[in-house]
Amino acid sequence: MGLFSKDIKTMEDLFVHGLQDVYYAEKKITRSLPAMIDKATDAELKRGLQTHLKETENQVKRLERVFEMQGKTAQGYKCPAIDGIIREAEDVMGEVEDQDVLNTAIVAAAQAVEHYEITRYGALIAWAGELGHKQSAKVLGETLKEEKATDAKLTAIAERKLNPRADGRTVAGRARKRAGASKKRSSSRRGRKTSARSAARRSAARPARKTQRKKTAGRRRA
Ligand code: FE
Ligand code: FE
Ligand code: FE
Repeated sequence: MGLFSKDIKTMEDLFVHGLQDVYYAEKKITRSLPAMIDKATDAELKRGLQTHLKETENQVKRLERVFEMQGKTAQGYKCPAIDGIIREAEDVMGEVEDQDVLNTAIVAAAQAVEHYEITRYGALIAWAGELGHKQSAKVLGETLKEEKATDAKLTAIAERKLNPRADGRTVAGRARKRAGASKKRSSSRRGRKTSARSAARRSAARPARKTQRKKTAGRRRA
């Protein structure tokens, strides 16, 4: 950005700036997806993210073609939005202990990325159409289709499998939750001997927790 003059003067400039923004974002995503793939423990989710990593690598090339169509050299422009979305994903992934819950967190983080891309490509395609860059609009449209399909696939796998499992509503999920709970119980039993005051605090907290549980169960049945 210029210090004394503004660099974006026309809609054409804005279009190129948008291309640079999403080019930066796509490249950042190709570097960040491997960590998500690595952390995902569900094979189907892992495969889905791997497929999208390959698509993303191709999307980078597609953008390079669009730059070329505009007579510009492909160049990224720092996108603070994607940097933030990725940083938040890394933070959350680092905080989740349970593997099943982690898979659902990864889906949500990946969807935040897809939604950002969908808004950007949506605007770029509209601008390309307005500016008469038909071929660019068509090429960008191929990418938008992939982003939307990825988002839909993530919703499907979360709702069909990952969310119920993380919530302990599947056989595998329940078994894992039980194993985790008994581990926690035995370690808290050991801890209980150490502090009478914390035991009193725990029993005071117990009725409130039961009410909460009942409420949740009621809601779920409805
Ligand atoms: Fe993409
Ligand atoms: Fe951006
Ligand atoms: Fe994507």
